[in-house]
Amino acid sequence: MKKLFKKITVFLAAVFSLAAFSACYNPNTDSVSVLTSFYPVYLITQRITSGTDINIQNMARPQTGCLHDYQLTTLDMRLLSSAQVLIINGAGMEHSFIEKAVGETGINVIDSSEGLFDESGINEEHEEHFHSDEEGHDHNHETNSHLWMSLDMVSVQAQNICSGLKEIYPQYSEIMDKNTQLFINDVNSLKELEKSNQTSGDFNVISFNEAFHYILEENGAKITSEIEIDENTTPTARQMAQISDSAEELNVKAIFCADDNGRIFAETIGRELNIPVYVLDPLTYTVSSDDYIAAMKNNILTISEAKSK
Ligand SMILES: [Zn+2]
Repeated sequence: MKKLFKKITVFLAAVFSLAAFSACYNPNTDSVSVLTSFYPVYLITQRITSGTDINIQNMARPQTGCLHDYQLTTLDMRLLSSAQVLIINGAGMEHSFIEKAVGETGINVIDSSEGLFDESGINEEHEEHFHSDEEGHDHNHETNSHLWMSLDMVSVQAQNICSGLKEIYPQYSEIMDKNTQLFINDVNSLKELEKSNQTSGDFNVISFNEAFHYILEENGAKITSEIEIDENTTPTARQMAQISDSAEELNVKAIFCADDNGRIFAETIGRELNIPVYVLDPLTYTVSSDDYIAAMKNNILTISEAKSK
């Protein structure tokens, strides 16, 4: 009897977890008005529209992560057809599907990266960072599209999203302006927190995720090796050996990874060279927090910890 009861409990638990799973992701194509391309854009938009009746939904499933090579699903097409506007990260993140999305549904798009990669402005500052660690070898000039991981850039993203939404929902202009300002104030207080990490002294690090590029640089780290790992890409033995050689040569102090497929490679090198490994949150899916500011604060504190070792 006890055994049977246990079996039933296990069965029920399975049923409930299935139910809970579908409850987590149950897109309602009838009521969608604003669609965000993926999670970081959703988090920012949520702050801006808080207290309004605007209904936001995220297009990509919460588990999708970044959208670098994303292909639209039938459900995505349904969502895109019924939404009033699609808010994208921009800077190339949605390049694999944005043309198709607009071409086939005619949806309006708010590009949160607008103005960031013009001749003037923030990008030049970052461009300098790109050059600063150049040591004779060719450098990758492709835009790093993980803009939300930069406190400088996320404020611009928020302003762009706000202006775009105000055109569609002028009745909420005042509240969205206020929300955006509050968000930027919160971002600015995180910038204060970053200042303590920007002290002089070498802080050479390895990053096993391209999403950490801006936040590491904004916190005074110099990335000696950066490698993107996902479900389909794993580093080759040769790459691992190169990373390991340069880590020793350049006196690398810390290795950063996300809690994903890159972690095992980060830990392998960390163990081999006795370098501590730290986990940061790329905010591409619900990991440490569903609040942008809280998750970024955790990241900055983790970098502080790594730096103080
Ligand atoms: Zn990415």
